[in-house]
Amino acid sequence: MAGPFSSITEKDFEQRFASEESCLQYLAETKWQQGYTCRRCGHTNYCTGKQAHSRRCTKCKHDESAKVGTMFEGCRFPLPKAFYIAYIVCNAKEISSHELSQKLELRQMTCWSFKKKLLECVQSQGDISTDKKIEIERIILQTL
Ligand SMILES: [Zn+2]
Repeated sequence: MAGPFSSITEKDFEQRFASEESCLQYLAETKWQQGYTCRRCGHTNYCTGKQAHSRRCTKCKHDESAKVGTMFEGCRFPLPKAFYIAYIVCNAKEISSHELSQKLELRQMTCWSFKKKLLECVQSQGDISTDKKIEIERIILQTL
């Protein structure tokens, strides 16, 4: 199934994921599309968590962010920027980490290492030609 990473234009993508909130919402939708299960105790009932789009287990009270278990967990810069890098990887756009760093106002090393993390994840899943955008999108958005 094609999602926004593989099916919309760069301009539309940047508009759709312009805020932290819109990125978290999308991560939550994707991550829990088969239903919610608490990662700590396995309970399946939740209530709204403290952060935007996090879910809180009604049994053990564990509050889980939409980022946990995704490629975006531990990301120390704003999600719209991380999403943009994921978009670049998914669409195999030729853009150097220098250009990326200027566009996103991040350190070049930050851009390079996040892009590398995504590419390594994609490559570890076997041989995927770069035109298989939907497959790359699925890998980037999977929950580990
Ligand atoms: Zn729990």
